[in-house]
Parts: sequence; C-alpha cells; structure tokens
Amino acid sequence: MKYKIYSKNKASHFINIECSIENICSQEVELQLPAWRPGRYELQNFAKNIQKFEVFNENNQKLKASKITKDRWKVQTNGATCVVVKYNYFANIINAGSSFVDENILYVNPVNLCIYAEGYINEPCTLELYKADNQEIAGLNDQQKLDNDKVSISFNDFYHLADSPFIVSSNLKHDFYEVGKVQFNIWFEGNLSRENLHQIKIDFKKFTEEQIKLFGEFPEKTYHFITWILPIPYYHGVEHRSSTMQVLGPDNQDFDDSPPADIYIDLLGLASHELFHAWNICKLRPVELLPYDYTKENYFSTCFVAEGVTTYYGDLMLYRSEIFDKNQYYKELEAYYKRHFDHADSASQSLFESSWDLWLDGYTQSIPDRKVSVYHKGAVAAQILDLHLQRVSEKNRSIDNVMALMWQRFGKSENGTPLKGYTLQDYKDICEEVAEESLDWYFEKCIFGTESLFDLLNNYLQDINLQIVRNEEGLVKLEILS
Ligand SMILES: [Zn+2]
Repeated sequence: MKYKIYSKNKASHFINIECSIENICSQEVELQLPAWRPGRYELQNFAKNIQKFEVFNENNQKLKASKITKDRWKVQTNGATCVVVKYNYFANIINAGSSFVDENILYVNPVNLCIYAEGYINEPCTLELYKADNQEIAGLNDQQKLDNDKVSISFNDFYHLADSPFIVSSNLKHDFYEVGKVQFNIWFEGNLSRENLHQIKIDFKKFTEEQIKLFGEFPEKTYHFITWILPIPYYHGVEHRSSTMQVLGPDNQDFDDSPPADIYIDLLGLASHELFHAWNICKLRPVELLPYDYTKENYFSTCFVAEGVTTYYGDLMLYRSEIFDKNQYYKELEAYYKRHFDHADSASQSLFESSWDLWLDGYTQSIPDRKVSVYHKGAVAAQILDLHLQRVSEKNRSIDNVMALMWQRFGKSENGTPLKGYTLQDYKDICEEVAEESLDWYFEKCIFGTESLFDLLNNYLQDINLQIVRNEEGLVKLEILS
C-alpha cells in the first residue's frame, strides 16, 4: 500500500489521503479504517470524520465501493489490478491521539485516517509527504527526499505505519541525546524557548539510562519524544513503538523555574511513563493484543500490567535517577493513592474486571462505585507486589526482576516484532518465580478482589517508612513515619 497525505485546503481542516493498492487479483477487495487506536482501549469511530470516499482503477475510472460496517468498505475491482482510494478526513482536534491541520501545521496519527486493504496488513508500505524548505518532520525515521518538496518514508507493515505519529511544521524545536547506540530525539511544537532544551536533555537522559538498566537493552534504534505545548491546560500522552506523542499546557510557565514549574514536572512524569511503554505494551504485550485487531474490541484482562506497572515505574524511575527528590516522589505517590482511595476504594469491580471493561467505560466517568482505574489501583497493586518481593527476599529481588523476566520471555525479539504475548497466568508464574513462593493470596486480593487495599498497602509502606491515613473528611494523606 502506498499512501500520500497532504491538504488541498489547510484552512478547512481537511486532510487528503490517497492510498494505492497494487497486485490485486480478486474481484472484490475490502478496505478497513481502524476502529480504535492502541493506547486507548475503546472504539473511536474515526470514520465519522471522512467526508468523501472514492475508489478508482489505474485508468482513473470510478469503481463501486459500498460500506459493509461503519468503517469498512467493499470495492468491486472489475478486473483492475491496482486501485486508488481517495478520501478526505476532518482533522480539527488536538490531543495526543488525534490529527490536526491548519496553515501552520500538519499533525497526523496515521491510525486515525489510513485505511488498509484486507490481506495486505503485513505488507511493507510507503508514505509520501510534502515539506517546504523551512519545515521539518518530527517523529519519522529514514526520510528519503524525493524531487522538490516530496519526502518518502518506508514502513515494515501497516502496524508500523499506524504506530508512527508525525508533525510537519516550521516551528519545531529539535535536539537529541544518545544512550549507547540509540538516538533519543526531543521535539517541541508550540511555545518553548530554546535554552530549556539543555536541562530537558540532561534529565531525560538520566531516566532513559535508568530504564534501559532494568531491561538490559532498548528495543528500537531511534526514539522520538514529540511534545506539543498548548496555551490551555492539558495533559495527555500516547505511547508508540519508537516514539511518544505528548500534549501539555498551559504554556505561560517557565521551564527553567526553580523549584520546577508544574508543566516541567508533568513533562518529566509523562515522558518517563511513555518511555517505559516502549517495552511494556508496545513490545511486551498481552497475547490478546498480538497482533492488534483494528476492526473491533480487543478484550484483555491484564491492563493493570500494561498501565498499572507503567504508572508505578514512571515516577519511581524519576526518583531512582535522582531527578525527583523524596518530596516530589512522595507527592506523586500520594496523588495516585488519593485518586484510588478517595474515589474508587469501594468499587464493585476488581482490577481484572475493570481491565476487561475498558472498552465499555474505561475513559469516561464511572457511575457510582462501579469501576477502578487500571492506572491508579494498578499502580497500588504494583507497589504492594514490589514491596512484598523485597520483603520476602530481604531486598535481593523486586518487581524489577519480574519485568526483566517478562521482557526476556515475552517481549524481546530479533526483528522488533513481538514473538508471543503473555497471559495473566504467565505474569503470575513469573511473579511467583521471583517470590519463590505462591502468590495466590496477592492475586486473589489485589487483582481479582474488591475489598479495600488500604490496610494491606499500609502494612507494606512501613517497610519504606511511610503510611497513609485518612483525615476527618475521610480523605487519604501520605505521612512519613518518624
Ligand atoms: Zn500509559
């Protein structure tokens, strides 16, 4: 599949897409626009943003295309061996998983707007973009300059393209640092003064090194932190195999402030979390998500590993690499304790059940006492596991050993494509291997159970000199034990 992405009329916020599919030898071909995007496990209905959709043969004659689901089309090829699909997509939303175009910027998450042909999803594909001399493209590796203002990028397959967000703009700020042979690029769009990049590079390098130490390697050759700073308050990030897209705001804060401004703390917390996903979910993936099925819900019950463990590590890595001091780290811990215990401590669902139901109400407000957050309760459960493993091994082992073994057995591969996904039982087996004892009680209580973890967490927090208490209104507070 060969794609061209451009905008005939940027002010209209419409992006034009042309997709050519070659070597067709059937009377019919089915075209699918993804129904969801990895990182957010709910249906997204991207197809509602398509205004016009037409299909042509190699002689530019129109072919019959009829919809067979909300985001799938059946095309009668009439013997054509090549079809060209031309359509436009309304791109007027800015968040870390959307697409947007205006006179200044082309921001694309290909999973929003690139169709694929059934049977071709594993084939290599190319993308052609237009870039003026004063513009750069953030997020894409191996950009080949064609004639004039055209650039071509190759992808291993549709999954790779769908997982590669990019920004074309003349306003991008760029710098990079290296760890071993891997280049980590830092891109900023929006209002950020150049001199801040120096400190950002120093801090990012520290947590990157700390994370690589845990897993023993970085799974990609190049990585891009793409951050768009908005004038309005914003906090959103999405993980990808060799990049993360982050949107933060408001931009009226100074990145150089001491103590650091909220936006800088947010940037560090988000970037560390998203980088951890480069292993945990992008490669080390639940078996139900391997490969991604873009046509429908992909139910899985282990999001407390994908998001809970990642939330726990995002801040822990900043603390271990001495970017966050104790006070800042405790503030972050208290924040997710509060989010869980103040709001969802008496929910009727377990972590296991709420992971499954992400597709139902994972990203909207819950009705009273229904769901728990795979992020916040998931992080509490990860910390209990970590402190338990340290306790039973006299600090010789920890959740680090669990994640390193998970990586070796289920994430790592030679060509970058995960070989096999893990099941809930695989995760439990590895936890027990590290504990050298049965963890039935832990899984019953923390993963499948619905009773409060307040006392259990406190039991373990004393090992690191902390405790949580409830104030008169019943709200949770973190205290340091003297
Ligand atoms: Zn995450």
